[in-house]
Amino acid sequence: MKMILLGPPGVGKGTQAQILSKEYGIPQVSTGDILRSAIRADSELGKKANHYMSKGELVPDEIMLGLVRDRLFGDHPPKGYILDGFPRTLVQAEALNQLFTENKTQLDAVLLLEADEELILKRLSSRRVCRNCQTVYNLLTQPPAVEGVCDKCGGELYQREDDKIETIKNRISVYKHQTKPLVNFYKSMRLLKTVNSSGSPQEVHRKIIKQLEEK
Ligand code: AMP
Repeated sequence: MKMILLGPPGVGKGTQAQILSKEYGIPQVSTGDILRSAIRADSELGKKANHYMSKGELVPDEIMLGLVRDRLFGDHPPKGYILDGFPRTLVQAEALNQLFTENKTQLDAVLLLEADEELILKRLSSRRVCRNCQTVYNLLTQPPAVEGVCDKCGGELYQREDDKIETIKNRISVYKHQTKPLVNFYKSMRLLKTVNSSGSPQEVHRKIIKQLEEK
């Protein structure tokens, strides 16, 4: 299974990608996670990416394409995966199609997660992440047992710089202008399936499975 999760920031792509990844036994490939780990490692990629990410802007296409090419079509290409956060522009989507053609493989599905803006703002502003093991919490729906402390490893929970309200608004606007055109792009390829992302993670997951099983 090779699948893309599409949708605005905060709609639950990461959470659903994690659940699907366990269920299908295939990796979640989150470009945001790859970039954040490059920032933590203070690598050249991390330094470049941080410049854009801290403002809620997109990292340039050339950088993203190099990174995804290595991850999906490098020395150890995974047989299946869930792409979470890629592609985010038409240039990226077209280049990905090209890579699939060159490598004689294809996408199985593109899943669009939808939610209204109020829910997105609420989810993003209440998201917290463990500094140590990167587990994601939500203060409203999945709070840790002890405030500010990770249940899994005892690490400190923090708010992502780009989850602060001014940056969130920019990320939503970037989504509308640069990423939303992908909805029609994948619709015209007859790959798009749409799921409303309101409800608990398990409820949304059930809706996704139902959509994936429909021909
Ligand atoms: P995410 O964790 O998916 O919300 O991504 C966090 C940030 O990483 C985004 O706001 C962008 O700055 C950057 N990013 C992640 N994926 C991409 C991509 N495919 N193209 C450009 N920038 C990206």
